[in-house]
Amino acid sequence: MSSRGRVHGKIALVTGAASGIGAACAQHLAREGATVVLTDRDAARGAAAAAALGAPHGFLHHDVTDEDGWAATVARVVADHGRLDVLVNSAGIGVLGDIERATVADLRRMYAVNVEGTFVGCRAAIGAMKLTGGGSIINLSSVAGLIGAPDLAGYCASKGAVRLLTKSIALHCARAGYGIRCNSIHPSFIDTPMVEAMAQAMGDPVKARVALERAVPLRRLGHVDDVAYLVVYLASDESRFVTGAELAVDGGLTAH
Ligand code: NAD
Repeated sequence: MSSRGRVHGKIALVTGAASGIGAACAQHLAREGATVVLTDRDAARGAAAAAALGAPHGFLHHDVTDEDGWAATVARVVADHGRLDVLVNSAGIGVLGDIERATVADLRRMYAVNVEGTFVGCRAAIGAMKLTGGGSIINLSSVAGLIGAPDLAGYCASKGAVRLLTKSIALHCARAGYGIRCNSIHPSFIDTPMVEAMAQAMGDPVKARVALERAVPLRRLGHVDDVAYLVVYLASDESRFVTGAELAVDGGLTAH
């Protein structure tokens, strides 16, 4: 391993980087030598997260549901840094609701961010990466993209879509010989504002957290670093033979 860092010299774009998993991915990639461009729809928190990393890292304001904004964002990264090597699609939303209570409006919101945002983002990144010899795309799915959860009907649908979208992209890029790999990550409950909001929505947040911890064989919520370590591996050349894979980082939750 290079003492200069596991992703030394790579140019990485991380969406949803103002908070939670995306913010941790940006920190770890930067620590391992990448130049990281953070994006988020939350301009204030995104800019603060980038400022905490310092130069040469930066922030671009972008809502992943804005298709034209994707082209502009990737073009800006290439103009500023010459290339794009890594895309982490972490921007996402989750709304509780079983099939009888979930609304179509919530389903569409989750699809717009989790599925369409990832779809357009992958396409924009591929357009840049294929011109410079390849890259690595990492999509945040969820254990809810592998197994069902009764209270997450729309979220499960959206994260299941991300899982197979990822495999389709991996196969397309392999067939085209672009040198671009695409993999999905499937975390269980990670201690972030998203899970905190879900615990609040379940009524008694303390009881909800205990129930979530009990569901995990390793008996704890995940830490954002648990996911970011995997992202660094997938972003690095250590994972050069890994594409189209679905990697669980879930404390054993899907091992049953
Ligand atoms: P989070 O709420 O802490 O952070 C999500 C970030 O995405 C926020 O900064 C938010 O502003 C941003 N975002 C939301 N919609 C956006 C949009 N349209 N455009 C740009 N940015 C947008 O959530 P998190 O827990 O860090 O989740 C990150 C990803 O990991 C999500 O895709 C989520 O579904 C997935 N995930 C999370 C967990 C978990 O337990 N936390 C588990 C499995 C998967």
